[in-house]
Amino acid sequence: MNDDFDIRQSGSEREDFERALRPSQFDAFSGQEKIVANLKIFVEAARMRGEPLDHLLLHGPPGLGKTTLSGIIANELGVGFKVTSGPVLDKPGDLAGILTSLETNDVLFIDEIHRLSPVVEEYLYSAMEDFRIDIMIDKGPGARSVQLSLNPFTLVGATTRSGLLTSPLRARFGINCHLEYYDHEVLERIILRSSRLLGISCSGEAAHEIAMRSRGTPRIANALLRRVRDFAQVVGNGSIDPKIARFALEALNIDRYGLDETDNKILVTIITKFKGGPVGLNTIATALGEDPGTIEDVYEPFLIKEGFIKRTPRGREVTDLAYSHLGRQRPTGGLFD
Ligand code: ADP
Repeated sequence: MNDDFDIRQSGSEREDFERALRPSQFDAFSGQEKIVANLKIFVEAARMRGEPLDHLLLHGPPGLGKTTLSGIIANELGVGFKVTSGPVLDKPGDLAGILTSLETNDVLFIDEIHRLSPVVEEYLYSAMEDFRIDIMIDKGPGARSVQLSLNPFTLVGATTRSGLLTSPLRARFGINCHLEYYDHEVLERIILRSSRLLGISCSGEAAHEIAMRSRGTPRIANALLRRVRDFAQVVGNGSIDPKIARFALEALNIDRYGLDETDNKILVTIITKFKGGPVGLNTIATALGEDPGTIEDVYEPFLIKEGFIKRTPRGREVTDLAYSHLGRQRPTGGLFD
């Protein structure tokens, strides 16, 4: 478990680093092949017609490339790109300000769109549908509503919790894509590309070591690469080989399978409190003090993909891999179990 090392970095440090490594074209974006193939067609068609791309909803766990993909779309469409997020758009006026600043066919990216306040969300409906908004001027008896026309635009909404989206909002997106966790091979490619951009040599085998521990997530892969680079430069000879990669990852106490603290807690809870399962999602969530939706949308898909948990008709069950990873024995089924 990575108890004593937090791979999350401070905000601005991480942002600078991510910006430097963020692909700006479809061809530099690895993985998510089906989504990319479809988006390429939709983007090309919108460009040929000189129309905005349909509104697009991207959902999936954090760090899988939702912001990156949106930037690529704007770039490939040859239009402007504005970024904001649900919690930032506090009042309808904030939304009106940003919408009226958009130029024809621009892309507006709203991160964490499930966290929009209901009143801001209402305003967004007419903006998305008819490219107009009604804003209230003045208060009290003199209050009146003024209609503003907007330039046609594309809204890209990103969410880690698509289940929390209201149905009227969801219905206004013409394209809906779910991003999946990445395979190790794709993460390896991303790590090798990032090391080229950072000007540091990294062997394929070392990239594999890092990829294995990246929790299927490009953001984590890049963050680990950065930390391993420090070890290579200070302790090693400057280049990343498998030996220094293993040494660094051990020193950083990164879980062998890339599991984070919550992943491990989920497995330990199912094993110690529920005899390995089967157990229902809500029961696990209550035992952990976590939100069931977050477990279902963010944690469970990775644990299932990597073979630590199985979904059965009677609930969630941990696998032998979970027992061996945590160094525990599966209880043998006795008569009174
Ligand atoms: P999200 O918006 O889903 O949280 P981001 O788009 O911010 O994720 O991606 C996090 C980082 O991971 C970015 O800096 C980007 O460099 C990298 N990244 C994400 N997806 C890919 C990809 N498919 N190929 C290469 N790099 C990627």
